[in-house]
Amino acid sequence: MTDWTHVYEGAACRDHPELDWFPDRRAGGQTIAALREVCNSCPVQAECLEMAMTERLYHGVWGGMSERQRSRLRTARYQAAREAVSA
Ligand code: SF4
Repeated sequence: MTDWTHVYEGAACRDHPELDWFPDRRAGGQTIAALREVCNSCPVQAECLEMAMTERLYHGVWGGMSERQRSRLRTARYQAAREAVSA
């Protein structure tokens, strides 16, 4: 089991409790863009994304990606793994 403590300790979102990090799936692009702006300056952005992918955190914005974006990334990774196996 991976220890993700360093992600929580370095998280830039801790400085932005005023933002809703678990917006409704139908939230507009502006809402996601505001969250992504914080993520893009976060020192643990890459680790946060991998934590969300590994731990299957489906809801909310993690690592600068929305639920929909992570779903697409999950599919792309799955397809790439399948192609690598069958190559
Ligand atoms: S990448 Fe975004 S959601 Fe993840 S820890 Fe940083 S600010 Fe928070």
